[in-house]
Amino acid sequence: MNRKSRKQIAQALAAGMAWTGITSTLRARRRRRGDFRVFILDYHEVERGPIEPEGVVSQTRFRSHVRFLKKHFDIVSLAEAVDRLGANAPLDRDSLVLTLDDGYIGNYEHAFGVLRDEAVPATVFVATAFVDGQPLWTDLTRRAVARARSMELPESLSAELEELAPGWKLGADPVETLKHRAPDVRNETVARLLESTGRPDDVARAMSWQQITEMAAAGIEIGAHTVNHPILPTLSAEQQLEEIDASRSRITEMTGIVPTVFAYPNGDYDENSINACRQLGFAAACTTRRGFNTPGCDRFRLNRIGIGADSNHLLAARLTGIFDQQQRERMSEMGLVRSQTAHA
Ligand SMILES: [Zn+2]
Repeated sequence: MNRKSRKQIAQALAAGMAWTGITSTLRARRRRRGDFRVFILDYHEVERGPIEPEGVVSQTRFRSHVRFLKKHFDIVSLAEAVDRLGANAPLDRDSLVLTLDDGYIGNYEHAFGVLRDEAVPATVFVATAFVDGQPLWTDLTRRAVARARSMELPESLSAELEELAPGWKLGADPVETLKHRAPDVRNETVARLLESTGRPDDVARAMSWQQITEMAAAGIEIGAHTVNHPILPTLSAEQQLEEIDASRSRITEMTGIVPTVFAYPNGDYDENSINACRQLGFAAACTTRRGFNTPGCDRFRLNRIGIGADSNHLLAARLTGIFDQQQRERMSEMGLVRSQTAHA
């Protein structure tokens, strides 16, 4: 089953749950039990719409999400949520955090206005080289591959690329394959591809430092997200520390803010990534493992729930936990579903 039809089934299931009142009943019951949680939602780009490619949410949808969430949850910054998780006391209500990853221009042009109008905080994780004008390698690769597919490139190129990065195929998801390669292999493969396709002219744009500073002044929390958005476990411990530290310094240099929270690019991390964040004095770090958080959880392995072009019903269903990684793992142990890793 492909991603699109899985999504359609999830939307239909969520609509059914909302129509029968199951979603709100589950939420109310959980709260009556005193089972309160910290939910961290993970958005990326917010665009004018109405077209919403993968990873993009239209401004209209974002506004509708925020209004819905505001009605049912206490929306706080990540720093505030981490304080609540670490207070050594049971939570007395649900908290919800809106995070936006990478630093796309739409965070300023389309999301910021909604956040301001609705008076809710959010946390933006910034990959600093992206803001400094370098395209995100994931975005660049996806667009170069889309071009390559439409250009009928010589077969020899495909073979050559496969030799550079074994397992790499133009037909498969290129980013998925490349992200686990060493950065130099990845860079060489992408560079060779770009030589043939030319540089895509539609790469995603980032916010400027001035826009980030303006958002921060209005109460938006700025978090670090490395310099080059590498897949951290492909780097040495020393290189990881450098990527994380340099991203924080650059944010401080350009905005005067010292970020206290971090998000692992692509959600990938290992012990070295966690140690680096601890050593640098971050208060918390986010993964993309789908789930909620409760007191006693590991602050450097915070779960998040990836949000795309979801209906409000699906958003509400996601917050019941039925799509959580833990739930999937339990079901796959019981042989009910095939195991699958979350990814955002
Ligand atoms: Zn990212």
